[in-house]
Amino acid sequence: MGTSRAWCVYLLGGVAVLVVFMLLPYGMPRDVLYALIAFSCAVAILWSAARLRNATALPWVLMGVGQLAVVVGDSLWVYYEHIAEVNPFPSVADGFYLLQYPLVTGALLLLARHHRSAGDREARLDAAILIVGLSLPYWVLLISPKIGHYDSVLMQVIALGYPLGDVLLLAALVRLLTGAGARTPAFRMIALALVCVLTGDVVFVMLEDPQGFSVSLGVLPFLMSYLVWGAAALHPSAADLLRATPETVPSLTNRRLLTLTAVVLLAPGTLIVQLAFGLELSAWAVSITSVVLFVLVVARMAIMLRRMQHQARRLDEIARTDTLTGLPNRRTMDAQLAREYERATLDGTPLTLAMIDLDRFKLFNDTHGHQGGDELLAGAATAWSLVLASDDMLARYGGEEFVLLMPGRGLDDAEHLLAALRVVTPQRQTFSAGLALWDGRETPLELLRRADTALYAAKEAGRDRVMRAAPAVGRRPEPVNSREYGGPPGAGPAWSAPSR
Ligand code: GH3
Ligand code: MG
Ligand code: MG
Repeated sequence: MGTSRAWCVYLLGGVAVLVVFMLLPYGMPRDVLYALIAFSCAVAILWSAARLRNATALPWVLMGVGQLAVVVGDSLWVYYEHIAEVNPFPSVADGFYLLQYPLVTGALLLLARHHRSAGDREARLDAAILIVGLSLPYWVLLISPKIGHYDSVLMQVIALGYPLGDVLLLAALVRLLTGAGARTPAFRMIALALVCVLTGDVVFVMLEDPQGFSVSLGVLPFLMSYLVWGAAALHPSAADLLRATPETVPSLTNRRLLTLTAVVLLAPGTLIVQLAFGLELSAWAVSITSVVLFVLVVARMAIMLRRMQHQARRLDEIARTDTLTGLPNRRTMDAQLAREYERATLDGTPLTLAMIDLDRFKLFNDTHGHQGGDELLAGAATAWSLVLASDDMLARYGGEEFVLLMPGRGLDDAEHLLAALRVVTPQRQTFSAGLALWDGRETPLELLRRADTALYAAKEAGRDRVMRAAPAVGRRPEPVNSREYGGPPGAGPAWSAPSR
């Protein structure tokens, strides 16, 4: 049998043994069975680690050794309880149990390091909020009542070691869950096993029964964690534990938002419960936790706000720019035309506009391919932009059509500029243009329309030329004198004055 079904067999077999365990009366055989279940988990994890040849092996090794420490602790417990017949708490067994926490935490942090993403600052802040918030109940319920509870320093250290170890484990688990790790079955099973361990620890301490092995329900979460952990190690996805999700920034999903809210509310909630039931108030702990949580939440908001502002700027840029040429697009040109129109109305400066269209561009595409056509469009945009003054604005209006807005230039000046553009157009490509000077009355749309009509006239007249738009309705476009431009010698059709 391969590993594909081994995890299933292990889990189902484990559940059957678990039922047997629950049915056994208190005594050595039952506690030995407990230690054997824990041992099977350590074997499964270490066997899996031995099979893996990549970086995934190390976290499994750490988890396996951690589990092995638990098995040693369990065996010593059985020895103290049933053979030596002394109280196993405190004993060397506790030392082995406590060893599990740093080892497993180390494994989880190794995984979390591999699951870092571009939005890791936000993930880290989410983790910090959850860790700080969730540590409060640990402090109030498990840690602070234990301080000064024991006369012996050793007992005190051991008694505090468990809840502190839990907080450590919880922190690493939260860090892992808020990171970008792929949610493979093995990943989910490890998380579930850790939740079982944390639950088990709380139940064990809350029962206040150092003879915990006698309370079969109390140790059930531990047994379940062993089985799930072992199954995770045997699952085929165990080899895939380091894979991160492609997601870059942790999205603030409803679930994440609800979890963060619930955890932040633990601080005031603690005080409310204590007040309602007349319990001793944890005023200092709640105050300090609240201050830290406020700061973390504000930092989280600030980072998210900055990211969104950056995204909004990027989107705005994308919405205003033509991707191929990098020029402003039609939307930007229309807005700029409206602005320049208002300015020209106010201060009476001339406003000239040219509609430019590459000649026989379809043929160019057919000859050089679509990519060649794209390169020509981008090349022309770059070359033309270098010739323009800062007040001029060139936009890609669509396809192979461009609009050149020339505030402050009269028709003659604009014609000179178009002649300069013509000279620098790449690959001896020619263009036709319609030129219109704002007449002081027409709307921007009418100005554009006149330039467009002049462009059509330029095309009809043979292309490779500039035509002035008729200044008033009923007038024919006025041709531009070719000699004024001095077109490139022998390049395509002459830059000639079209026939009237
Ligand atoms: P005219 O001289 O009359 O303007 O002829 P033309 O071939 O330039 O004009 P026509 O309108 O017949 O064809 C325009 C061509 O421009 C057709 C279309 O495939 C091409 N075109 C439009 N946008 C792009 C683009 O982004 N990239 C490329 N490579 N070609 C484009
Ligand atoms: Mg064209
Ligand atoms: Mg066209």
